[in-house]
Amino acid sequence: MKIGCPKEIKPQEFRVGVTPNAALEAINRGHCVIIETGAGTGAGFEDADYVAAGATILETPAEIFAAADMIVKVKEPQAIERKMLRDGQILFTYLHLAPDPAQTKDLIASGATCIAYETVTDRAGGLPLLAPMSEVAGRLAPQMGAWTLQKANGGRGVLMGGVPGVRPANVAIIGGGVVGTAAARVAVGMGANVTVLDRSIARLSYLDDVFMGRLTTQYSDRGAMVDLLPRMDMVIGAVLVPGAAAPKLVSRDQLGLMQSGAVLVDVAIDQGGCFETSHATTHQDPIYEVDGVMHYCVANMPGAVARTSTIALGNATMPFMLSLADKGWKRACADDPHLLAGLNVHAGQITYKAVGEALGMDC
Ligand code: NAD
Repeated sequence: MKIGCPKEIKPQEFRVGVTPNAALEAINRGHCVIIETGAGTGAGFEDADYVAAGATILETPAEIFAAADMIVKVKEPQAIERKMLRDGQILFTYLHLAPDPAQTKDLIASGATCIAYETVTDRAGGLPLLAPMSEVAGRLAPQMGAWTLQKANGGRGVLMGGVPGVRPANVAIIGGGVVGTAAARVAVGMGANVTVLDRSIARLSYLDDVFMGRLTTQYSDRGAMVDLLPRMDMVIGAVLVPGAAAPKLVSRDQLGLMQSGAVLVDVAIDQGGCFETSHATTHQDPIYEVDGVMHYCVANMPGAVARTSTIALGNATMPFMLSLADKGWKRACADDPHLLAGLNVHAGQITYKAVGEALGMDC
């Protein structure tokens, strides 16, 4: 199969869909890999790295889309890219169709077979192609929060790990899922005094077990917020209610309970944010202040570490990409119900129930 990887064109997107290692794996299995020139530069991969793996470099996205049997990307295809998709071609990338009728209509019109990273499942009931980005955002959250806590950035001027004789930072993490656990690992490692809140007792038990006393767990309710907010230097929002906007867990009034220069890191901002005063920010202008409390609310946190994110995503997507290339989409999906769960649009039809329902379209 001919696997094509164009350069991402969404603003501030530096990741790339196929790494040189993934290209090498595919080429070793007899496939052909074509890469748009410069596609990997933002993630630190040069054209020469792909050529060394045996891939062919093409100059324009039009050439990639025209030649490839399967397009492998990171972000959903933009309008100009959607025009280049064709009947029978496989598209394997993040799509997030439910809130995006324009993209959905174009994918239906293209006749392509569109498999969305975000709805591919695994045996444990997880989302294996979303999890790596949650891992990245979670590990980044205390790092960015620590930077925001610095005096020059508007923070309280508190060092995460403290020093002998001076207490470390108090960090609360709301939501102990993939993001929250990754954030806890880094915050604990930095020496902070960490409390994780969740509504799932099972999740709190798991965290209690694996961290062996190195953090505190607390059930997440209004009372817990009122209790914790006056003492926290940093609060990381990492909640997810599947299929719903993030619940607002800290109101504007409650900012008054917090210390001046304390920091809110709202990782859940891509689901609307879990603090009432959150609004999405960018890597160029990541922080702002409301009522003396600093907010960090970057909606695409993994973009800050494009190389790590690209490799993490590539590791997760590669087995599925290889299966699609080896077997073709029909047999690959027939053999693997978890890959089949990723099928969102095929031959002019929505094939994913939740997308059809969200958009009021036939499925
Ligand atoms: P997850 O499903 O693994 O974990 C979410 C956790 O939130 C679960 O343990 C759940 O029990 C808990 N929860 C739900 N309601 C709660 C409440 N009221 N109080 C406390 N806990 C509650 O999800 P995840 O992969 O960890 O993702 C968390 C959030 O991070 C999502 O909104 C996701 O979209 C977002 N995210 C953002 C970025 C970014 O760049 N900003 C990147 C990756 C993920």
